Amino acid sequence: MTDATQPTQLTGLALLKNPQHNKSTAFTEEERDRYKLRGLLPAAVSTQAIQVERVLANLRRKAYDIERYIFLMALQGRNERLFYRVLIDHIDEVLPIVYTPTVGQACQEFAHIFRQPRGFYITPGDLGRIGEILKNWPEHDVRMIVVTDGERILGLGDLGANGMGIPIGKLALYTACAGIAPHQCLPVMLDVGTNNESLRNDPLYLGLKQARITGAAYLALVDEFVETVQKAYPRALIQFEDFLTPNAYALLKRYRDRVLCFNDDIQGTAAVALAGVLASCRLLDTKLDELRIMFLGAGSAATGIADLLQSALIKTGLSQQEARHRLWFVDIAGLVVKSRQDLAPHNQPYAHDLPPSSFVDALKSVKPQVLIGATGAPGLFDEEIIRLMAQINEKPVIFALSNPTSRAECTAEQAYRWSDGRAVFASGSPFAPVEYQGRTLRPGQGNNAYIFPGIGLGALACNARQISDEMFLEAARVLADNVSAEDLTAGTLYPPLAKIRQVSLEIAVAVAAIAYGQNLARAPRPHDLARMIKAMMYDPGY
Ligand code: NAD
Repeated sequence: MTDATQPTQLTGLALLKNPQHNKSTAFTEEERDRYKLRGLLPAAVSTQAIQVERVLANLRRKAYDIERYIFLMALQGRNERLFYRVLIDHIDEVLPIVYTPTVGQACQEFAHIFRQPRGFYITPGDLGRIGEILKNWPEHDVRMIVVTDGERILGLGDLGANGMGIPIGKLALYTACAGIAPHQCLPVMLDVGTNNESLRNDPLYLGLKQARITGAAYLALVDEFVETVQKAYPRALIQFEDFLTPNAYALLKRYRDRVLCFNDDIQGTAAVALAGVLASCRLLDTKLDELRIMFLGAGSAATGIADLLQSALIKTGLSQQEARHRLWFVDIAGLVVKSRQDLAPHNQPYAHDLPPSSFVDALKSVKPQVLIGATGAPGLFDEEIIRLMAQINEKPVIFALSNPTSRAECTAEQAYRWSDGRAVFASGSPFAPVEYQGRTLRPGQGNNAYIFPGIGLGALACNARQISDEMFLEAARVLADNVSAEDLTAGTLYPPLAKIRQVSLEIAVAVAAIAYGQNLARAPRPHDLARMIKAMMYDPGY
């Protein structure tokens, strides 16, 4: 039992080495006697607040973010509650280290910075006995599972087993942003090999050194994983994360109607982007159905956004065809049009009946108010593109969503400079505020962390059977409603990260309400949903 809120039987060094129960120098005089800690700790009794100060001082004097990441992971492995106290109370500073952008570098260097195992690894050799090996996981009350196969980590490509940094980071955000207790979280790596030659040739690489398994063998492994965790943890939500786009779509289609699951790259991204678009409508003083939205990139992120936008547009009263006419895609081969033979199934609904066209020409003819980049390729919103958007629009809305920062389609500073300070800019990874001609412009961060923790908490609270599109639509609405007039005045399409626990709680309440309304909840409806969910949230204080 590693629920830190329950009393422990541990004493002495075993207690100090247990990350869930360890309070280190914050053990009180009375606890030092009770738990046989006398002599094992220096005399002064710290408060948690003093410990936080000490952590921050140590963190800030490190020269590189990757060193800060290593330090914070070590803290998580030593004193879990202190780690979450620091993450929650200093989320602006710490989230970019625990998650994007630094987690990208951490994944690239995973095998080189590896200190201690965390999470659960499944390989093709485990087929037929995943249930047996899952018994090795020490927790019995798992509610949240984040799983990847490492094939498309952020915009960094196939990182194989190094991708384990992503489920670990996402689950840390579940705990920090939505209060899912750490012992209820299970990070999973489906290590099916890697096609990344340089990793396979790296003597320090820790994953399977073989080409990825594909086809029926791959599906059999994922199927067994899904069935096994459902049996072992019947109330757990499975979040699919950073799978290659065709697999992401295939797996979502395979399980979404019978398993409590979602794909964050498709659905979480969609909701956070929709929230940004809804907030931009307030800023532009326009309606959603009056917007023309162009995407650069037509992969899982962009198509997921378009699918949810389509649902939101249909809710405003448009037909499906009218809704699709507001959404335009350009990918690596140009405008997505019907005559193209190379379109993936998820692109076909958005193919327009027009001749092929380049990005620039498409921009000139469609004249979008909103431009969304989700390509994984940096620098594609160059000076010509931003100037064109600024020529077409008084306030051009630019989303450069590719992660990590090094992959963003443009920087915040470029978007502001090339639009003469008029752009409304949001990105996937954080950018610092920009001083432009005496004004401070604040880029928004379209971080999925605004959405998925609340979705998960809501689903867990009502013991949902499935995750529906309406839940993501509702989550986007709640997030957009949390953007204040001051945020909009500063050019920001998202609320401050400091509000994220409150936002997650509101999303969770809305999601659970949808589940009850759609008959997707398995738990009886409580008298006061908001109070019940708030009480569920893990608090790392001691
Ligand atoms: P993907 O590989 O499925 O799709 C990439 C798309 O970009 C493809 O359609 C490809 O044709 C297009 N593309 C690539 N190079 C291009 C070029 N030079 N010109 C035009 N189009 C080009 O990837 P994905 O899953 O959609 O993710 C894309 C990016 O979005 C990643 O960097 C990821 O980190 C980011 N992302 C951000 C968020 C967020 O900010 N909230 C969420 C999810 C994904």
